[in-house]
Amino acid sequence: MTSVAVPAVKHQKLFIGGEWVEPSTGESFQTINPATEESITDIAKGDARDIDLAVAAARKTFDGGKWSEMPASKRGKLLWKLADIMEARIDEFSMLETLDAGKPLAESKHVEMKQSIDVLRYYAGFANKITGETLPSNGGNFVYTLREPLGVVGAITPWNFPMLLAMWKIAPALAAGNTMVLKPATWTPLTALKFGEICQEAGIPAGVFNVVTGPGSTAGNALVTHPGVDKISFTGATDTGIGIMKGAADTLKKISLELGGKSPNIVFADSDIDSAVKGATVGIFYNKGEVCCAGSRLFIEEAAKDEFMEKLIKRVNKLTVGDPLDEKTRMGPVISKAQLETVQGYIESGKQDGAKIVAGGDRPDIDKGYYLNPTVFDGANNKMKIAQEEIFGPVLTTIPFKDVDDVIRQGNDTIYGLASAVWTKDLKKAHQVARALKAGTVWVNTYNQFDCTAPFGGYKQSGYGRELGKEALDLYTQVKSVWINLQ
Ligand code: NAD
Repeated sequence: MTSVAVPAVKHQKLFIGGEWVEPSTGESFQTINPATEESITDIAKGDARDIDLAVAAARKTFDGGKWSEMPASKRGKLLWKLADIMEARIDEFSMLETLDAGKPLAESKHVEMKQSIDVLRYYAGFANKITGETLPSNGGNFVYTLREPLGVVGAITPWNFPMLLAMWKIAPALAAGNTMVLKPATWTPLTALKFGEICQEAGIPAGVFNVVTGPGSTAGNALVTHPGVDKISFTGATDTGIGIMKGAADTLKKISLELGGKSPNIVFADSDIDSAVKGATVGIFYNKGEVCCAGSRLFIEEAAKDEFMEKLIKRVNKLTVGDPLDEKTRMGPVISKAQLETVQGYIESGKQDGAKIVAGGDRPDIDKGYYLNPTVFDGANNKMKIAQEEIFGPVLTTIPFKDVDDVIRQGNDTIYGLASAVWTKDLKKAHQVARALKAGTVWVNTYNQFDCTAPFGGYKQSGYGRELGKEALDLYTQVKSVWINLQ
């Protein structure tokens, strides 16, 4: 039962140069609520011509210096003001995200929007702390470095945490003085557009932040190949990332890529099993498994397997699947029909490969919406498709292991390297395994922890570059050495 009023959302235009404009195509597409399978509103279908206009607006503002040369403290203050406005309108943002992405309202508000605001404030504080250095020179020279913005940043984002993952790019890029054109995911454009609205309200100069909605293959690709864009910051699937790298090559753009994962979540027999069961459940079923760092491969030490599986299955079967607007819901619908079918395809593949479903595998009895029950496979091995490919849905593959060496070998046996976790009470073992895992993040006795201060990014085919932390500023700045002859 829906317990909250759902606001009406009107037709959305593109946000270019501080104005709301119709797309050059004159066309629109629908954004669908995955909980009802109904259209929320129509969205402007931007294409290469709109990207041209947005890049021109961003370029004009950057070159004009209105933002890049604004006193850094003032820039920081404006970003802070933006965060205040977002906080005051957090309910609106949360509702839009829930309608668009199908996540429980409390998660939209207390996780995604709260973290988005934290990230914005964190980088607002950095605006006047981005500095160069004075260098010890080799003689009669005075040498120093300037850390400068790159120019126009093109940001392309996915649909699983639409606002938060956009903010990981927006906040450091703008704090450093860049301007931006954002192409949000086709399935979830609403919060990016709302953010454009509050940029106007906060008095962010026109052209600093632009939003062009539209398909990845046209609008996204135009941004990637545009000669007026200095950098592409992308989050999405590994295959798309490969295409983006190729597309950006002709203009030698700087790129950073946050891609997919198949993260190992490793439970040793000497761990606190109850905590590990909770961590494993959150690790895969939070946001219906639509999490790049989902603990989708669960390795359990053989000695603890029976006890662990029994407790895990009990817990998973208690997860309430349903309407994201209902307070009791822990898992909303999968993002789209296409994604639901993809995930179901993986469930079939797991069965065909001989793995056994011990929870879920089917759909709940709900009339409308792309719902799927949380699914757990037992009897899998690390070679199976369900252990090697990113499913990006509520499907957990459990795999037994013998000892430390065995689990390090299996855990690292993947093309990905985004995140990982270790559950043990043995401190020495925790550190040893943390060092041996080839992943950008290792959690010990916890899962899915994030903070604006802690860098996040991938090893191997999970991408490169680190978002969050002070490291993200490196993605949006470049260093110039200045030599002054003192002789
Ligand atoms: P996707 O790659 O299909 O789409 C991501 C974005 O790229 C969308 O805005 C899309 O429109 C755009 N796009 C698609 N084709 C394009 C093209 N040819 N040129 C330019 N842009 C194009 O990914 P998705 O399905 O939206 O998101 C899920 C994927 O994102 C998963 O693989 C997940 O692991 C990954 N992800 C990674 C992280 C991370 O931080 N590493 C975080 C979240 C999601």
